[in-house]
Amino acid sequence: MESPYPMLSVDAALAAVLAQTQPLPAFTVNLHDALGHVVAETIHASEPLPPFAASVKDGYAVIAADGPGIYPVVGEVTAGRFADFQLQPGTVAYITTGAPMPAGADAVVMVEETERLASLTGTTQVRIGVQVRTGSDVRPVGVDVAAGTAVLKAGERLGAAEIGLLATVGCTAVPVHPRPRVALLSTGDELVDPGTPLGQGQIRDSNRAMLMAAIRANGGDPLDLGIAADSKGQLRERIETGLHEADVLVTSGGVSMGDLDLIKPLLGNAGVIHFGRVRMKPGKPITFATVEADSRRRLVFGLPGNPVSSLVTFYLFAVPALRKLAGWPDPNLRRLHARLAQPLALDSYRPEYHRATLRWDDTQQGFVAVSTGNQSSSRLLSMRTANALLELPQREGTLAAGEIVSALLIGEL
Ligand code: AMP
Ligand code: MG
Repeated sequence: MESPYPMLSVDAALAAVLAQTQPLPAFTVNLHDALGHVVAETIHASEPLPPFAASVKDGYAVIAADGPGIYPVVGEVTAGRFADFQLQPGTVAYITTGAPMPAGADAVVMVEETERLASLTGTTQVRIGVQVRTGSDVRPVGVDVAAGTAVLKAGERLGAAEIGLLATVGCTAVPVHPRPRVALLSTGDELVDPGTPLGQGQIRDSNRAMLMAAIRANGGDPLDLGIAADSKGQLRERIETGLHEADVLVTSGGVSMGDLDLIKPLLGNAGVIHFGRVRMKPGKPITFATVEADSRRRLVFGLPGNPVSSLVTFYLFAVPALRKLAGWPDPNLRRLHARLAQPLALDSYRPEYHRATLRWDDTQQGFVAVSTGNQSSSRLLSMRTANALLELPQREGTLAAGEIVSALLIGEL
């Protein structure tokens, strides 16, 4: 029996997914919860930084034209205080890093270039050892951030530095795209929870724990729908819950050609199936549908049940969708080149997404790809330590060790 679904290329399938996916409407998060979100509006600085001319060093605020010599210390100003005096020619003031310059002073001499002298008159005297230029060791108003600067642009992702910038400009309610909510359902009569003893013919549900982790690691907010048996009624009910509660529904299992592979017909009834077969190894029966629920378009990924197929197809299709929902301007997996550490056999029918560990090689000045071994789609060990999917072309023969291949990044390098 031939599958009724046309076989799409990976590129065409991914284009179909992204065409159905729009960034989720922006909302506001607290600064402290903003990590990993994409900022939805350009953020401007309303004040200059520093807001006052500030000393760069611990030392003495001086009038540069006075030059080297012995001067009375007429005051001091430390960070967080404001000088209530004006520096007159022939005098200096003690100052610390980050303190506002006293009026009249135009430079700072660092403490290493000075010597404090015994006071005879009650006024501390200091020897200034060097000639400095006007403005020396002073941060003028706005030198780091001018008022009106766009410190973050819409579409930028918030990491530590970006959150620091938000704090700097006083943006505590941050306009961002939300994390997509992703409902996750395992399907199969044979599946039991990992903590349950195995009965005859049963296996543990590895996909749900794994995909929950993958959803979290890729910026989604997972919702666990548990395990559904291979029964139409139970599947329909769980699918409905998922469509109601989440932006994205991910199922695993039940999309191939067996009598109990019920996901495709159920999704076809509920909405539109955009593809049900993709020319790729592993993961050929990956299915993508959209369903209108509560007058919003939900994305549904019916992943194949084999653990490797489910995770590979999750990375290739669901991760770019999650990124686009979350507001990433370029949601694609990042691609780089690597040199094969060993020869790899090719598949003449399908492009293969070969799991490999990439590491930087100092002598070759490039990335080297080490295969994770036997690539059987049921062998989850083939994903262990893999941080890349090598894009092996569909053709006969073998790629030799040392050949350069393109690789999609799925983990940290
Ligand atoms: P299916 O896609 O439902 O035909 O399943 C393909 C293979 O993957 C079968 O050997 C299933 O037992 C296995 N499988 C399906 N779902 C899971 C799961 N959640 N965890 C582990 N193996 C699974
Ligand atoms: Mg099944």
